[in-house]
Amino acid sequence: MLNTISVDVEDYFHPSEVQAFVDSSAWEDLPPRVEDATRRVLDLFARHNARGTFFILGWVARRHPALLRDIAAAGHEIACHSYAHRLVYELTPVEFREDTQLAQQVIADACGLLPRAYRAPSYSVTERSLWALEILAELGFTHDSSIYPIRHDRYGIPGFGLHARLVSTPSGPIMEVPAATVRLPSGRLCPVGGGAYLRLLPYRYTAAGIRRVNDDEKRSACLYFHPWELDAGQPRLARGLLARALQHELDHLQGVLLVDRMPAVKRISLAGQLRRLQATSRARSG
Ligand SMILES: [Zn+2]
Repeated sequence: MLNTISVDVEDYFHPSEVQAFVDSSAWEDLPPRVEDATRRVLDLFARHNARGTFFILGWVARRHPALLRDIAAAGHEIACHSYAHRLVYELTPVEFREDTQLAQQVIADACGLLPRAYRAPSYSVTERSLWALEILAELGFTHDSSIYPIRHDRYGIPGFGLHARLVSTPSGPIMEVPAATVRLPSGRLCPVGGGAYLRLLPYRYTAAGIRRVNDDEKRSACLYFHPWELDAGQPRLARGLLARALQHELDHLQGVLLVDRMPAVKRISLAGQLRRLQATSRARSG
């Protein structure tokens, strides 16, 4: 069973939690770390002969075009993580279209590849921004991975469905690939695909969750992390104990564990080609 490993390529000052403390007008003045951090991810993947899907922020693509070329040259899928990391449900459809088109353009300018897969900042395609899928299909995206099928204060569509499936829109179908979740015996749905759970809980929790998705549900799991999760030297921008813990404090260890120890879990191949994975899980379930 192949699972999807994906990387949201953004700098340490881009996450929504940090934007409460650092205005986007200050981004230009902060020391960039995304290129070095992403190159560490590329090295890890190369060591394990892994292929991933890299959802790249347009803002990063504009400033680090050589990085995009190297990601593509290493055989990874080039995908889109918006231009300015703004939450989709805080944009109008017109603003969302503009942001997405700009991201497509700068990514294509940087590496010559037009992204076909999209991931919204902070999984911000929710009930109130589901209109985004139609715009993505219209702009030529074939895959989207912007919906977390859980309840969370900032994102999530509880009951959306746990596995990849085609969603119909007036502009055509788009394959939605949710982040991996596991249903506990209590019925509660828990995220295992990434985020604070991945950073803060022991690695064996993630590994057991992936085994459950693969073995019990016969489906592949979609995982994600960020280059800054492997970057222990980044400046601490978020204030407050909880914000810091969720954002940066423990992340480094778990990020390294995730990538380094994945091959030890035999069922996991690090492979990110969403289309190929979908074909695999269809063949398995069919
Ligand atoms: Zn992001």
